[in-house]
Amino acid sequence: MDYVPYKEFLKKVFPKYKRVRKLPLHGGMSCPNLDGTKGYSGCTYCNNQSFSPVFDQAKVSVATQLAESIPVLRKKYPDAGILAYFQPYTNTYAPAAELKEIYLPALRNPEIAGIAIGTRPDCLPFDVVELLAEMNAVKPIIVEVGLQTSNDQTLNAINRRHTFAEFENAVQRLHQAGLTVTTHLIIGLPGETMKDFVRTAHEVKRLKISAAKLHPLHIVCGTQMAQDYANGEFELLSFEDYCKAVAAMITEFNGKVAVERFSGESPDELLIAPDWCGEREKIVAEVERILQQQKA
Ligand code: SF4
Repeated sequence: MDYVPYKEFLKKVFPKYKRVRKLPLHGGMSCPNLDGTKGYSGCTYCNNQSFSPVFDQAKVSVATQLAESIPVLRKKYPDAGILAYFQPYTNTYAPAAELKEIYLPALRNPEIAGIAIGTRPDCLPFDVVELLAEMNAVKPIIVEVGLQTSNDQTLNAINRRHTFAEFENAVQRLHQAGLTVTTHLIIGLPGETMKDFVRTAHEVKRLKISAAKLHPLHIVCGTQMAQDYANGEFELLSFEDYCKAVAAMITEFNGKVAVERFSGESPDELLIAPDWCGEREKIVAEVERILQQQKA
């Protein structure tokens, strides 16, 4: 089984462009799992600083971020379609009227081909989905709904504070509204086995999600998981087992779910383990080798 690269998926969404580049933006929002609405401590692996290059842009308006970033990106990619990407925290976590004001500069900017919005499944009420659908009539909107795993026991253990059923409900409502949905999955969460990874891949395929970002569980400073790891409460997957899990998930996707990422990135100064998670090319090569071997 071959995998469908994310760029193939983007070509379908943006047929006018040979290539599409994501432009990370900070919408200035927080997360209900951090501000006390659902909890204060957040997901046990979460350190937003570790996964967004625009972590420090919270107070800079979206219009200013666009004005500063677009020329930089254009120098490198003069012909690319630009996908404005609201990345850190939960980017639908505000009333619909406020969200509209946050998204409008990107929606109106002629340089922006479409918008990707990262969020949680429990932050997509009906009026927000309606707003996203209205925007989708102007430019393609991709909603990235974090799942991590379809196993409710694990979701509870990592303090996600939402269930798989909530994810399923949100995805169904987004699809009914005509929106494109992608997701993020973590491979190797404590207590999970290959059976869980494949089941999660199966559920993602069943829900007709267009693409998935696959990350190994990686431990970053300042998180609950870092403490648990230091206390020896669980072990991380080896490079080999991670690649086997990715290959098994891709096989389960069966060409129906594009793969946006094969690994996660964290700044060196924050990453505790595993030391191989930044070696994307090596991971892709090993996964491709396993997939080829399966074909032979
Ligand atoms: S939902 Fe996202 S931002 Fe919120 S605590 Fe979890 S990982 Fe962090």
